Parts: sequence; structure tokens; C-alpha cells
Amino acid sequence: MSIEKMLEEGAAGFGVSLSPEDTGKFVRYLEILKEWNERINLTALKDDGEIAVSHFLDSLSAAKFVRGAGSLLDIGSGAGFPGIPLKIAMPELDVTLVESVHKKTAFMNEVIRELGLTGIRAVWGRAEDESNGVRRGAFPRVISRAVSGVKEVLALSEPYLSPGGSIILMRGRRGEEEWEQAGEEVHARYRIAHKLRFTLPYGGQTRVIFVVEPASR
Ligand code: SAM
Repeated sequence: MSIEKMLEEGAAGFGVSLSPEDTGKFVRYLEILKEWNERINLTALKDDGEIAVSHFLDSLSAAKFVRGAGSLLDIGSGAGFPGIPLKIAMPELDVTLVESVHKKTAFMNEVIRELGLTGIRAVWGRAEDESNGVRRGAFPRVISRAVSGVKEVLALSEPYLSPGGSIILMRGRRGEEEWEQAGEEVHARYRIAHKLRFTLPYGGQTRVIFVVEPASR
């Protein structure tokens, strides 16, 4: 099966409709990723199909929690996951990607340029750095995939939330265990509004997504 077909069918499984133009963007993204991956470490995956499933489709699995939100902050985006795939699928979404490794930020800005995406930017900086230029209290959704511990990433995310906003945690198959281990303080401070446990298509891995809200509201 072609990568385009895998993406189109796999995305449909997450309620995302990709046009031929969109799948073309993913194919170009894949090419740039493989090119840059020879020089800087962006992904351990080498196979096109694996990248399409474990990075692109996995990123799109969060689409239903982001749709209609207006703007999204992706903390620790690495090679652009999940923020760039979500932007390709939902062009109306304004996306900010914050990443502490300069070369990864340069890579994301190159992808943004090459794909002709607008309303998206990669910011070089640490999420906890007050002077990183990213506005606090301004994002209805703050997302992260595979970034540090649950407790740490919640603390990094919360300052950026706009009133009524939610934090989306994309975790691996041990997601529930990680939530439990985050401890009582976290469980008292936040509540899980939604949890989705699923297996990626085409023989992919199991993942867990948590949509979390501050419990105080
Ligand atoms: N989200 C991407 C993904 O799912 O492929 C990358 C995951 S990688 C395991 C974690 C990334 O978070 C790394 O690129 C790292 O540089 C970045 N990171 C870790 N702590 C950060 C922080 N405090 N602020 C910004 N970026 C951070």
C-alpha cells in the first residue's frame, strides 16, 4: 500500500479527512525528515511506513480533542509531533511549537517553509523560560507527546492555558500507570476530562491520550 493511501485511510480512522494535497505535504515532510535525520537525530524510525504510522497518524489521533479550539501550543515538539501533522490536517488551527533544542527548531521551521504552512511557528526555548516569547494564559489547548513525566509536563503546560482550556497528554501504552505514579498532588489538582486508549493502525503500538483540566474550575 502506498504511503498516501495509508495516511488517507489511517487518518479517516481518527475522523480526519486528508485531501491528496494534504497527503502530498506529509510525503514531502517525510522526505525532509529522512534527509535531516542523516545529520541530526530526529527519529529512530527508518522505515517510511513506520514513520507514517508511529509519527504522522499517531499525531492525528489527537485531532478530535483539538478541532475547533482556535489555537494550540505543542510543548517539546522535537521533529514537529504532534503539532505539524495537526496543522496539515486542520489548516484553520493556529499552532505554536516550543522546543529547547535549536537544531530541531530549525528543522521544524524548514518543514513549515517547505510545506508553505502559515499560522504556525517553531519557537526555540524551554517551556519554563519566562522569556521564551510564548504568551502565557493564551492557549485553549496545550499538547505534548512523549515529553518528560506527567507531573512535570502538567506543570510546564498549565501557565499557558487560557481560561477553560485543557491539556492534552499523548503517552505510550503505560499511560495509565504514569498517571497513577504522578501522585496525589497531581490527582487533586487536575481531573481527567477524557481518556482514549487505542492501538495505531497497520500493526502499530498502543497509545493513551489524556485530556486534563485543572480541577479548580
Ligand atoms: N513530541 C516529540 C515527539 O513526540 O516525537 C518529541 C518527543 S522527545 C522524547 C521530547 C522533546 O521535548 C525533545 O525534543 C526535547 O528537546 C523537548 N523538551 C524537553 N523538555 C523541554 C522543555 N522544558 N521545553 C521545551 N522542550 C523540551
